[in-house]
Amino acid sequence: MENIDEFVKEIKKIGMHAQTSVSYKDYLHMRYISFFGTVLFWLGLSFCFFNHWIMGGILLSQHLLVKWLLMHHIGHGGYNRIKNIPRRFHSSHYAQGYRRYLDWFDWIRADAWNYEHNYLHHTFTGENKDPDLVENNLDWLASMKQPILIKWLILIIAAASWKFTYYSPRTLSYLKGYQKIHIYNFLNIKQKAPRHMWLELFLPYIGFHFIALPFLCEWIATGFGWSVLYARILAELFHNIQMFIVIVPNHSGADLYRFDNVNQYKHRNSEYYIRQILGSANYHNGAEWIDFLHMYLNYQIEHHLFPNLPMRQYRLIQPQIQSVCQKYNVPYIQESVWVRLIKMVNVAIGRQKMRRISGPFSP
Ligand SMILES: [Zn+2]
Repeated sequence: MENIDEFVKEIKKIGMHAQTSVSYKDYLHMRYISFFGTVLFWLGLSFCFFNHWIMGGILLSQHLLVKWLLMHHIGHGGYNRIKNIPRRFHSSHYAQGYRRYLDWFDWIRADAWNYEHNYLHHTFTGENKDPDLVENNLDWLASMKQPILIKWLILIIAAASWKFTYYSPRTLSYLKGYQKIHIYNFLNIKQKAPRHMWLELFLPYIGFHFIALPFLCEWIATGFGWSVLYARILAELFHNIQMFIVIVPNHSGADLYRFDNVNQYKHRNSEYYIRQILGSANYHNGAEWIDFLHMYLNYQIEHHLFPNLPMRQYRLIQPQIQSVCQKYNVPYIQESVWVRLIKMVNVAIGRQKMRRISGPFSP
C-alpha cells in the first residue's frame, strides 16, 4: 500500500473529530443503558416470583450483558473526559476495590480484565502476544484427530462456560504474573494462583448469585428462591453462550489477518491502524437494539482504531471509516454475526487458516 500515510491521516482525523465531539449526551446514553440493565434485573426477578423462571433467566442474562458492556466501555476510559459526571464512571474507579461488588460482580476481576483486554489484546491484536488469538488458543482443538461433531461438542461446552473456565483464570494469570491457571491445576487450591481465583472470585460469586440471593428470595416467598436459582443458572449458561457468539468471532476467520514478527517500534505507527482493520470484523449495526445485543462490539473495527471512545460515537463514525477504507481499497469486513461465527468455528476446528502477514507490511 503506497499511500498508507494519507489513509491513516484521514482515519486519525475522523478519530480526532469524534474525540472532540464527546459530550454529556454520550454519558446519558451510557446511563440509559445502565438503567435498562437495572430494569432487566428487577423484571427478571419479578418473572421468577410468578414462577416463570425461563423468562426470568433470559431477562437476567441480558442484565449480565449490560454489566459486561458497561465494564468494557467504561474500563476503556470512554467516559473519562466528560466533565461533571460522577467519578465512579472514570476507568480508574469503575469496579475497582469494593466497587467490584456494585459495578461488576463477576467471575472476572476488573483490573485483570483491564490489563488483559485493554492493554494486551488491544496493543497486540492478532499477534502471538494477543491473549485472545483464537487460532493460537484453540490449536489443540484444530489439530485433534476427532470427528467434526466431537469438536463441535467441545466448542459448545467451552462456549457455555468460557467466562469462568477461560476468561477469569486467564485474565488473573496475566495480571498477577502467576503461572497460568489451566485445566490441570484449575481445582488445585494448594497452588497460589488457583487458590486466589477460587477464594477471591469464584466463591464470592457463587455464594452471592447462586446461594444468598435464592435464599433471600425463598425467605420472601416459598418457591421464589428455587425459581431464582433455576433462572440464574439458565442466565449464566445463556450469557456465556451469547457472549461467546458475540466476542470470539471478532478477530477470527479465514478472511482476517494475523501478524507475525511485528517490530516493537511499529506498534504505534501507521501500520498499527491498518493491523486493527485487517485483523477485525464488524457485524451488522446502526440500530440501538442491534448494537445493544452485540454489546457495541459490532463496531469492532472502529473500537480497535479508537478504543477509548464512548459507545455512541462508534455508531456516528462507522460510515466515515468504512468510506475511507473503500476509497483506499483497504478491506473492511462487515457481516452478520452468524456468518462470522461460522468463519470462526472453521478456524477453531482446523478446517481453515487465517491469513498471515509475516514480514514487512504488504497487504
Ligand atoms: Zn475493547
